Amino acid sequence: MFEDTHDHHVLLTPGPTPIHPRAQQALMRGMLGHMDPEVFALNREIQADLRVMYGTEPEAFTALLAGTGSLGMEAGFANLVEKGDEILVCANGSFGRRMAEMAARYGAHVRLVTAPLGEAIKPEDVAAHLDGVAMVAVVHGETSTGVLNPVPEIARLVRGSGVLLTVDAVTTAGMEPFHMQDWGVDYAYTGAQKCLSAPPGLAPIAISERAFARYAARRTPTPLWYCDFEGLRDYWVEHTYHHTIPVNLHYAFHAALQAALEEGLDARKLRVQQLGQVITRTLAPLGFSHYVRRPEDRLPTVLALRLPTGMDDSAVRLALRAREISVTGGLGPTAGVIWRLGLMGEAARPAPYRALMVALQDLLGAPGLVARYEEELEAAGLVGEKQSVLV
Ligand SMILES: *Cc1c(COP(=O)(O)O)cnc(C)c1O
Repeated sequence: MFEDTHDHHVLLTPGPTPIHPRAQQALMRGMLGHMDPEVFALNREIQADLRVMYGTEPEAFTALLAGTGSLGMEAGFANLVEKGDEILVCANGSFGRRMAEMAARYGAHVRLVTAPLGEAIKPEDVAAHLDGVAMVAVVHGETSTGVLNPVPEIARLVRGSGVLLTVDAVTTAGMEPFHMQDWGVDYAYTGAQKCLSAPPGLAPIAISERAFARYAARRTPTPLWYCDFEGLRDYWVEHTYHHTIPVNLHYAFHAALQAALEEGLDARKLRVQQLGQVITRTLAPLGFSHYVRRPEDRLPTVLALRLPTGMDDSAVRLALRAREISVTGGLGPTAGVIWRLGLMGEAARPAPYRALMVALQDLLGAPGLVARYEEELEAAGLVGEKQSVLV
């Protein structure tokens, strides 16, 4: 089973996403040392590109951490939380709850703002609990439910209060314009394998100057040595050894990020919106419907669709997997109730979803499904995408 190259596997999960061909190619490059001048030049380009991707102030510090998105999450709390700090965490899904868990482990008193499953956090609920808080933490796009939280509105409330704002940008940054400086976000992170279609193992982060100042005023050293902001700066800016970075992953990440910026963040956003609509319209006659009720609460990059009544979720997904198509179901209370279709990075192309429609037409006995998909693609002006890099 592991002999297959999986070059033709159709990965529709909400992360990891299909690797970008340019990233795959970059992985083939020969090894260089982590202290090599060429690697430092590469890192400088990555830092500049990340400033664009996150929309930071010109001097903001950006870097890659040697770990997945969760390490980006953990590094923020490790560096910016001190024992006894009041931290307000918006938790309307499993990644919000992960934030709360991490903040507590670094000694924070955690205040939770929640929302019913499938609904976004209300900015007024954040405003009501801001008193005495050192940081607000929010997940922009909750992968577990397909909900988009109103980060710009929450940021407007936090702005000017001296409270730091940490945003989990895992399902948004790189797939749509992100405005760290304009919104007033202090710390943001994502994972390489989500919107950028790079291999897993790197967490791109951005730290505002305000957050760096807060870090510099800590009473005690950051408990997580590996991701200490100063240690990162020693390597990324001063070019002194801190730890060995995964050079090959940096090559691949650089290629994927350049491809994303060449396409343009606005163009990527439009591609996701259009394809999401096409998929929803194609599947609706079979009984699939939006799980997230309010259109403004829907996360474009993770399409959460309620399944038709009577459809055997696990049987259908197993049959899809036998045809080399991976689809993710719900989590906890939504298991067996929804599918979460990934529209991040290279997953958001007509070709991989055509493969899904071909398989579903057969498995669900739904003649005309593929024809309807083609019509919807054409109506959305996405036909030119047939020549996608992915088959
Ligand atoms: C995937 C994900 C993470 C965690 O990333 P890993 O790379 O799995 O560690 C965090 N937040 C959100 C919203 C995610 O989708």
